[in-house]
Amino acid sequence: MQTYAYGFPRLGENREFKRAIESFWSKQISEQELKDRIKKLEEDILITYEQYVDKFPVGEMTLYDNMLDTAAMLGVYDCGGLDKYYDLCRGKNALEMTKWFNTNYHYLVPVLNSANFRAAWNKPAEKKDLFKKGIPYFIGPWTFLKLCKNTKKENTRNLLLSLADAYFQLIKDFEEVHFDEPAFVMELSQEEISFIKEAYKKFENLNTKIYLFTYYDSVDFLKDLYELPLKGIGLDFVNGKENLENIKKCGFPEDKLLIAGVVNGRNIWRTNIQNTVALTKQLSLYAKNIAISNAGPLYHLPLSTEGENLNEKLLKKVSFAKERLQELKLIDEACKGDLTAAENWNENIDFGVNETIKKKVADLKDEDFVKLIPYEQRLEKQKEILGLPLFPTTTIGSFPQDKEIRKKRADFRKGRLSQEEYGKFVEFKIDNLIKLQEDLGLDVFVHGEFERTDMVEFFAQKLDGIASTENGWIISYGTRVYRPPIIYGDVSRPQPITLAEINFAQSLTKKPLKGMLTGPVTIIAWSFVRDNIPLSDVAYQISLCLRSEIEDYEKSSIKIVQIDEPAFRERAPLKKRDWDKYFNWAVKSFNLASQSKPETQIHTHMCYSEFGEIIEHIIKMDFDVITIEAARSKGGIVEDFQRVDFKKQIGLGVWDIHSPLVPECGDMKKIIQRALEILPKENFWINPDCGLKTRQMEEVAKGLKNMIEVAKKFRETDAVFSGQKN
Ligand code: GLN
Ligand code: ZN
Repeated sequence: MQTYAYGFPRLGENREFKRAIESFWSKQISEQELKDRIKKLEEDILITYEQYVDKFPVGEMTLYDNMLDTAAMLGVYDCGGLDKYYDLCRGKNALEMTKWFNTNYHYLVPVLNSANFRAAWNKPAEKKDLFKKGIPYFIGPWTFLKLCKNTKKENTRNLLLSLADAYFQLIKDFEEVHFDEPAFVMELSQEEISFIKEAYKKFENLNTKIYLFTYYDSVDFLKDLYELPLKGIGLDFVNGKENLENIKKCGFPEDKLLIAGVVNGRNIWRTNIQNTVALTKQLSLYAKNIAISNAGPLYHLPLSTEGENLNEKLLKKVSFAKERLQELKLIDEACKGDLTAAENWNENIDFGVNETIKKKVADLKDEDFVKLIPYEQRLEKQKEILGLPLFPTTTIGSFPQDKEIRKKRADFRKGRLSQEEYGKFVEFKIDNLIKLQEDLGLDVFVHGEFERTDMVEFFAQKLDGIASTENGWIISYGTRVYRPPIIYGDVSRPQPITLAEINFAQSLTKKPLKGMLTGPVTIIAWSFVRDNIPLSDVAYQISLCLRSEIEDYEKSSIKIVQIDEPAFRERAPLKKRDWDKYFNWAVKSFNLASQSKPETQIHTHMCYSEFGEIIEHIIKMDFDVITIEAARSKGGIVEDFQRVDFKKQIGLGVWDIHSPLVPECGDMKKIIQRALEILPKENFWINPDCGLKTRQMEEVAKGLKNMIEVAKKFRETDAVFSGQKN
């Protein structure tokens, strides 16, 4: 049996990928130096692959994002020169960014204006050199097309056929190629499947062997897939449970290689070697040629558990990317009959059990998930208490985390700064921010989240049953990285999580200050989550912790609470037929967490621009105000809210914080005007479209000043308007 691995993390052991690119941006290193460093990273990955598996792709490396690279390779963008390239990533011409399937990786969304594609080689490495070493990697044509924005509404068939011609040119000289086609696991129409068949038919007469990988879920059209001119087909047997059933029904073609994804690329729990051997045996009843591989690309996992300071028991339960490669080897050996190493791999270890919280979740009743007082009545009470002006202004929570903060935090972690000194420093930052917000004239304040490295990690560190890693970084987009926590046991709140900072901030101002919480779905989505109880139970355990936190806020007279759920959409299953089940518990977890007094105004924040498809679920979440991303789609999303006759308050993001540009008053005005054609002004909040953490303080102060000026103008115009009417 062969082994095949792909998608190994590009970040490097010490985040060299991030360091190199950011050093180039800040002009500390030259273009050549950047390219050399990236090349070295790529070579290291190949060496790692070589150590453990038989087959692997080459050319997975990018200087920012593979979707953009693919677009450039197909002539959609001219990226001659790195400045042009990075301008599309983060400059004035930055492309929209969105989540890659239901993961937390964000890709740049290429915009297709025509069906003219042409093959233009642009991999960091020379074509011939590199590809002697592995199988040339490509995002497949269907996945590429599905993830692009098709502004001119070009006909899908035309686009795909023309794309296939360009791909033909790209791949024709290679012996073998690797195609990633995760979009094959979506629910495709018969028509779409026929387009795919027609397009792939173009590769039929090539000598190039295509290994095509699907992952994240199962493929619904196996029989049709078998008809494509492929040498190998990668199926995900971890996250796509239906694949096994389908293979039992449809068999597997004798002339093809089944590349069975058996070690999880999405989660970190060690693969059970014995069960996997049994699975491959079962598969071999249907498929003659089998290779085993990872199920989903490995870049969703940190590099390696080596040197990780986790609890010993926990460490014995987890595998990161490198350990996944090791597992492939173990499974291969076990299949050959050598079980020694495999037996030590899976010890039966149980820990992290908390009977009290388990019982609390088991005892939950329907009424724990609904608010007794409806929105309209809550609104009256809140209006009186808060006394906000028309078009209230606020921010989403975080403020710039500069070098100084990072240094203090590192000092604190390393013991060079005491808890007290660090605490004083955070208070100093909060104090300054409150003054800034007073000066600017914002209406609802935040404390700035200076104490938080990351909105999930911070909560993870304060809750029992969740562990954090030292070096378990993964890329969220471009060069941005984060360390997903590990939810290994029952989650409980041993002490308040955020209360001290929130109370401190509120004590400095008369303006209402938002208590800032990360919601259960987001905590789950951005963590590695135990798989031995239902996800809904994990979510409810977290909800109960947040509910206690809100009760503490209320005792301290905090009047507004924001529960961030930026990952609410992202965590949804890829197949819509699985949506109801997911959204049911996701919505319930929000409503359970936000069981507050009617006087407490509950906000939620999501940063996802296409709300249309999930709006039915969002309106079941019983918040009072929702702040959402809109700046990039220029306010177009309000139409989704109109469609469902949305009655609550909305803070439409008027400032795209992913861009380093200071927002202009004129641009913000346009977004607001467009929204006000549809939304009643009484329900309208004005705010940036996400947290300001990644920006510079200077930009932020200017941007907010502009934003508040715009809000004031709208209030004045409204006053004039109302005056005229009277
Ligand atoms: N409150 C968080 C912040 O401002 C929200 C971040 C997010 O939506 N991703 O940083
Ligand atoms: Zn956001």
